[in-house]
Amino acid sequence: MTLINCMNCGQLIVRKSFHLCSGCLLAQQEDVKKIKTYLSTHPWASMIEVQRMTGVSLKTIRALASNQ
Ligand SMILES: [Zn+2]
Repeated sequence: MTLINCMNCGQLIVRKSFHLCSGCLLAQQEDVKKIKTYLSTHPWASMIEVQRMTGVSLKTIRALASNQ
């Protein structure tokens, strides 16, 4: 068992496949949905544009982009 701090809010959690606590994971999944929906209609959007249009933080967008 490995304990880590949630990457987003710093809460101490048992590490599974994600580096986020369940609350932040849920929020991130919502963000992913927003980004995917936006990109399906704007496939060439820049990160800045995605941030402006979806309200998802640039930090989150970068983290998601580097996971792919
Ligand atoms: Zn968290």
